[in-house]
Amino acid sequence: TEAFLAEIEGADALNAFVHKTPEIALEQAKAADARIAAGDAPALCGMPLGIKDLFCTRGVASQAASKILDGFRPEYESTVSQNLWDAGAVMLGKLNMDEFAMGSSNETSTYGNAVNPWKVDDRQLTPGGSSGGSASAVAADLCMAATGTDTGGSIRQPAAFTGIVGIKPTYGRCSRWGIVAFASSLDQAGPMTRTVRDAAIMLGAMSGHDPKDSTSVDIPVPDFEAMLTGDIRGKTIGIPKEYRMEGMPAEIEKLWSDGAEMLRDAGAEIVEISLPHTKYALPAYYVIAPAEASSNLARYDGVRYGRRARLGQGDGIVEMYEKTRAEGFGKEVQRRVMIGTYVLSAGFYDAYYNRARKVRALIKRDFDEVFAGGVDAILTPATPSAAFGLGEMADADPVAMYLNDVFTVTVNLAGLPGISVPAGLDAQGLPLGLQLIGQPWGEGDLLNTAHVLE
Ligand code: GLN
Repeated sequence: TEAFLAEIEGADALNAFVHKTPEIALEQAKAADARIAAGDAPALCGMPLGIKDLFCTRGVASQAASKILDGFRPEYESTVSQNLWDAGAVMLGKLNMDEFAMGSSNETSTYGNAVNPWKVDDRQLTPGGSSGGSASAVAADLCMAATGTDTGGSIRQPAAFTGIVGIKPTYGRCSRWGIVAFASSLDQAGPMTRTVRDAAIMLGAMSGHDPKDSTSVDIPVPDFEAMLTGDIRGKTIGIPKEYRMEGMPAEIEKLWSDGAEMLRDAGAEIVEISLPHTKYALPAYYVIAPAEASSNLARYDGVRYGRRARLGQGDGIVEMYEKTRAEGFGKEVQRRVMIGTYVLSAGFYDAYYNRARKVRALIKRDFDEVFAGGVDAILTPATPSAAFGLGEMADADPVAMYLNDVFTVTVNLAGLPGISVPAGLDAQGLPLGLQLIGQPWGEGDLLNTAHVLE
């Protein structure tokens, strides 16, 4: 713990940690020492972790990287982080992210962007987003592992951009209680780690039914680590033809087919599959996610949490709401609230929101049919490119940024588990990731297959 705290002090340039909690860390580490001495060491005993700023941590600033939550210190602990402390883990601090987890580059954060520890010459790169601080901190060895959350790719894309492992579990595997809500039907927490084994151990600790989240499912949590046998003989891996996008860089195509080759060498059968509704996933996601966000973010009213704008003479409650939300929310968050409110409004509900929900059902059915046909897992690239330069996309057309999520959002829409594993480097020497998509509740098999690709 002391070594990591020292590393963090020397790594301010990465802007990965936005709140450091050395006192808590040293106290938890001491408690972990005592448990080890007493011969009662749980799975994560003494493991120093970073926690994404989206998780509420008792008494510690938890702002979802938003100005509107300035000064907010929750009275409660998220279930997932509590599970980690119960398993003996140590909190080093809170990690940078896009504001309310909306973004793919960590550039919408009120703290400014985190930086990718990987560089090409002097070009500063994004660590991805929204869990950019988590990815940066794990890749730069500032912690053993970190928590992330993934609504449309926010664990898997930053993992791919920084050469680490990130898994989004099946919807309902981890409790969402105490995690600041973005799009409640899509949000899931998961681990970001250096190895698949670490991901298996940490996911086991994070998971489990929680009566405080009615969408968390009461299903046993297997020993994921024990399932890492490396034996995938007889498994069927699907390659979806719709993910072979026009204009995809040749090196991503190559890593994808090399990955398939590795799985075949390990005894899996590789088959081509079709997920015909894939092309509608991104537009459906960018209707459903903002719709849910506009509703979830209605609670930031200047009264219940964090910040309230300075009011002028004669301002009433409406002005208080307007001024607080106008100065407390950043540009991307405001854009999402407006899109969401629009697609939910009476005249447009059927044309947008309802249609997106129907598309979502078709996307889910595509996956159900493929799995019913005997496919165990699906292999795709994690991202359409390697990490891009900071500032390169942020000021461009927002849709260009949304396109980053083209391979990841389908998984959230269908509620499936998905993992990104480091697959190799591109011609510039930057990491690229491969994604494996698994059957519902099949995280153990998924981790085992990913282990073969490591
Ligand atoms: N980049 C996507 C978005 O901005 C995904 C975010 C996420 O998974 N939290 O909505």
